[in-house]
This record gives sequence, structure tokens and C-alpha cells, in this order.
Amino acid sequence: MKAVAVIPKKEKSVHLVEMEKPKTDEIAGGRGVLVEVLRVGACGTDREINNGEYGVAPEGYEFLVLGHENFGRVIETGENVKELQKGDFVVATVRRPCGSSIYDKIGEQDFTTDNEYFERGISRIHGYMAEFYAESADFLIKIPPAIIEIAVLLEPLSIIEKGLKQAGDIQERLKIWHPKTAAVLGTGNVGLLTVMALRLRGYEVHGFGRQKREDYLNADLCEAIGATYDSTDDLSIVESAKKYGEYDLVFECTGYSPIIFDAMQSLNENGILILASVTGGDRKTDAVPSDKINQMFVLGNRAMVGTVNAGREHFEMGVKDLALCEAMYAGWLSRMLTHKIEGLENYAQVFDILENSGKYNAIKTYFEIERI
Ligand code: BGC
Repeated sequence: MKAVAVIPKKEKSVHLVEMEKPKTDEIAGGRGVLVEVLRVGACGTDREINNGEYGVAPEGYEFLVLGHENFGRVIETGENVKELQKGDFVVATVRRPCGSSIYDKIGEQDFTTDNEYFERGISRIHGYMAEFYAESADFLIKIPPAIIEIAVLLEPLSIIEKGLKQAGDIQERLKIWHPKTAAVLGTGNVGLLTVMALRLRGYEVHGFGRQKREDYLNADLCEAIGATYDSTDDLSIVESAKKYGEYDLVFECTGYSPIIFDAMQSLNENGILILASVTGGDRKTDAVPSDKINQMFVLGNRAMVGTVNAGREHFEMGVKDLALCEAMYAGWLSRMLTHKIEGLENYAQVFDILENSGKYNAIKTYFEIERI
């Protein structure tokens, strides 16, 4: 079968490889499921891996098959798989409990404390930019037929669901927390999904990006579901808190780390800041009013949390939000699927769009490997 791979840490090494088709019985305990991949999303993580910033090949391989945003159809199941059958649609989770930390042992590998983590398509395990994959049913999420057209968005959404779940868990420290306003920093595909998830929860949402408002689809999408959009060139985050009021929750997904200090200064008392950008570079900033920020956090009981990856429950929350979003804002999610590239052999096009997403006005670029 065909797959799209990179040589980890080697810049612009993306290429097509030919591999053996995986088999259900490669998975222990009769729990194997063979999945035909229908769609795979591409994101900044794939771009950064192809730029040599990170990524690790599986043991015994010099290449790593990319792809973690996936959607497929079950074509075969092992004898101990009762919850799925041939023809079902599925999305697979990304991280596997291969480490030695207690969190790996209890199935909470998204909280692993090991430095070496195992993620399909990112670190030490081949990903889903392939015609097929085999996986244990334990890591597969069943997708209702009503949302198959947009299910390739589930993996990125799962990241947000985990962030929001953690915020909710942390805020249980307060006997009562009725958040009303939120700022979402970054309105790429992760930012837009965050705007959506917060609107579904009834927040007044303010989205921020670098692009100007005019002729910007991402801004249209914010406004289409009742959020605002501002360019940070016109309104800084700190200034925006004067205009809209300080935020109960801020979700950072720009990939531009200096902005987190602005975000810290725009939180309300008891508010919470969620950080979700994997900033692999070495950017530094010294324009930080540290006394002020420290005092705001201390005197105002503010909180900040980093979040990465997602567990099964966060994917399941995401399935519900995708369905609810379709019910409340029919067709909105499909507008995010801006660039469909047919066939793995056209990988160069996908990476060209990823590198120049501004030029292409791309929100979500994805492979269609097989028709639904
Ligand atoms: C993926 C996560 C992963 C993270 C770090 C993100 O793009 O969606 O599943 O944990 O990268 O590798």
C-alpha cells in the first residue's frame, strides 16, 4: 500500500513509500481492527515535522509515516472485537500507552510524564497518511453516520475538548464558576473549532487573528456563529479587555508564544488561561510586565494550564459537539474543509498549501484517499 512519510529531522523530506498492507492479527488479543483510511487532515504539526523541527521514526525504520488527523471505515475485525463491525466509520486516537509512567499504565497516556512519548504519525509510531492501518479497537472511536462528512475534524477538536475539560476540572476549586466571556487567540482551524466549542457552551466569544477582517473567511466563520473577530494589528489582546471586558477564559492557539503574556493580563479575577500551542522554536521576549502579571495572578486567583493530546473521553465529547454544531449551525463545519486533495500521491500539493496557507486562504487541508 501507499503511504506518505518523512525522514525525521531532515528538512523537506516528505515522500511516498510503498509498504505491506497491515493485518488485523498484528494486534494482540484478537482486538485488531483493519481500517481503510478515507480522509486524513494535515496541520501545522505535519508541516513542522516536514521542516525537520521534530518527529521520531519507529524503531527499526528510518522513515515515519505522517498523519494523525484521521477518518476511516472498518473493513475487518478480530475475534474479540464486539463493539465495531465491518462498514462502521471510525476515528483513531493518537497517543499510545507505551511509556513507563503511571499515567500510561492507567490509560491516561495523554498525561504521560515520560520524555519519550508515542504518537501515531508524530513520534515513534507510523501515522494514518496511508491506505490502511491496523489498530486495537480500544483506540477507535465510532462515528455516527450523520457526521461522517466532517469527522476528519474530530482529532483537532479533541485537543480543545481536553483543554476545556481541564479548565472545568481546575475551576472546581471555585465553589461557583459561571464563565460568560472568552477570548480565542488564533483563528486557524484549531482556533475556529475552539470558537465553536465555546459558542456551543453559551460563551460570548471574541476571536483574534493577525489577518485583517476584510475578505477573511475565518472572520466570517467567527461571526456566522455569533462570535466577534478582531485583527491584533488593530486591537491588542490587552486593549480588547478594555473594550469587551476581561475574559473568564482565554484559549491560546496562535503558535506565537509572546502573546501568552498579553493573555495573562486580560483575564478576569478567578479566570483561566489554556495554552495549546506546541512552539518548537527558540523565540524569546523580554517585554513582560512581570510584577503586574504576578500580582494579577496572586491577588486575583487566576490560573493557567498547558494541555496536549487527548484521551478517549475527549474524542467522545468531540463527537457530541460535532453533532450539536451540525444541529445548531448546519453546514458551518463543512465550510472549514477548504482544501481537499485526492490521492496520497499528491502530497506535494498538501505541503505546498500548508506552507502557504495565507496565500491559499486554507483553513483545513486534507487528503481524500478513498471516497466515503
Ligand atoms: C496533535 C496531538 C499531539 C501534539 C503533540 C498535535 O498536533 O493533534 O495529538 O499530542 O500535536 O505532538
